[in-house]
Amino acid sequence: MKQAFMNHYERSALNFFAANPLDRLALKRRDPTWLLEQLSAPTSRIVPVWQSKSLLNNQSTVQAVLVEPSTVPALLSAVEPILLGAYDGVTYFAVDLSATEITLVEVLHQLGSFQDLWSTNNGLDAKTAAILAYAKGMAYWHQRHRFCGDCGSPTESRDGGFVRKCTNPACAKQHFPRTDPAIIVLVHADEKCLLARQASWPAGRYSVVAGFVEPGESLEDAVKREVGEETNITVASVQYHSSQPWPFPGSLMIGYTAEASSFDFHYADEELEHARWFSRAEIVAEIEQGTLKLPPNISISHRLIESWFDAGEQGKLSDLLAKQTGKW
Ligand SMILES: [Zn+2]
Repeated sequence: MKQAFMNHYERSALNFFAANPLDRLALKRRDPTWLLEQLSAPTSRIVPVWQSKSLLNNQSTVQAVLVEPSTVPALLSAVEPILLGAYDGVTYFAVDLSATEITLVEVLHQLGSFQDLWSTNNGLDAKTAAILAYAKGMAYWHQRHRFCGDCGSPTESRDGGFVRKCTNPACAKQHFPRTDPAIIVLVHADEKCLLARQASWPAGRYSVVAGFVEPGESLEDAVKREVGEETNITVASVQYHSSQPWPFPGSLMIGYTAEASSFDFHYADEELEHARWFSRAEIVAEIEQGTLKLPPNISISHRLIESWFDAGEQGKLSDLLAKQTGKW
């Protein structure tokens, strides 16, 4: 059992945005004195977020701009900081500047530019990417919970940003950070895998099936339902692969492989434009021809396809794609 746990843990840690090194310091969140000390400490770093974008400096390679508190003191007085945690002697806080004066954003533009994490591809190192994704996810949750879902009164940040408490004394409801679970599944049968595309995607892009988990269903139920809704295929077995925090905008992707009990499918859902069974040899041929494009390698969908492909006799997917440099 221990070995199986380690395998899943290690496999998930390989997913981009999942290699988060931070100790989240759950007990320290409730210590206001410690929080104040950390907010002015030279060993602390601020992770700015603005309109769901991260501050990056890509002069040579893509790097996150992490701000020392004394560099831009106005940062911490303008918005409520969110304690992310600590790693290697550094305490990290996120600040969301979306609702602040644009002048503060302009000050930060001297240090880098706010960019969508999606556009960074895999240029960022994995640990930093995970911290930025975490900061983005927390900022997104705060933005969307400024008012109490129970009574509609304003809420305020507490416990280092891990609670938003309703300011109406008669309600006083506490709201906690949320993430939306979504399943993502590689369907396979008889040495072929099922890949599908949506009309809005770039030409030639195919990926695996995905969808949000609905109330009242297990993750495995969600896999069976999504595959059925999108392709009308029945899956006979469902195997967990790994998971990935997915900050676009606030999901947790839970990856599976599933064996189909039949080959026949039709697009039962309007979401898909086209779907196909691919053998490994067809994937090789079509990638080489430039007619098939897989999802970006920062995505768990890419890793699910890679895991399945690499288990066959056609070599490693990463080697095949490396030969295509410049083509995609
Ligand atoms: Zn309330």
